[in-house]
Amino acid sequence: MATAGEKEFVQFLRDHRVRVTPNRLTVFRVMQSSNEPLTIPDLAARVEGSGLNTATLYRIMETLTELEIVHPVLQGHQNVAYELVEPFARHHDHLVCRQCGRTVNIYDCRLEDALKSISDDKGFHIDFHQMEVHGLCPDCQKATQSP
Ligand SMILES: [Zn+2]
Ligand SMILES: [Zn+2]
Repeated sequence: MATAGEKEFVQFLRDHRVRVTPNRLTVFRVMQSSNEPLTIPDLAARVEGSGLNTATLYRIMETLTELEIVHPVLQGHQNVAYELVEPFARHHDHLVCRQCGRTVNIYDCRLEDALKSISDDKGFHIDFHQMEVHGLCPDCQKATQSP
């Protein structure tokens, strides 16, 4: 399934009577080009030179979260990152490292098929799911093993 792009984003904002501003478009483009959730500092680094400051980024993320175009992902150390949700992003689940907070997206049909078949067995119809699996990433495992 193709994900919705900029055209759909613009239409979505209009449908919800939210103004389409260059800043909102910039943020959307950055988020769509990223394959991992972005924190506000991550976003700030990627839009550097565009005149977008942290306060503006917070406001934009607030608006986009209310519109359910993005959602917050909790990372380690109370960090919050943001990512686009369907249909603006392809469905995926997360592996979250509790040490460094790194979040890895999982796009795996084995997982999706297993969930579907488990739910079917229980006669359960899934509306939505997003899994967060917590643990230690390879780098942090190495760091804890070395003396
Ligand atoms: Zn899934
Ligand atoms: Zn880690």
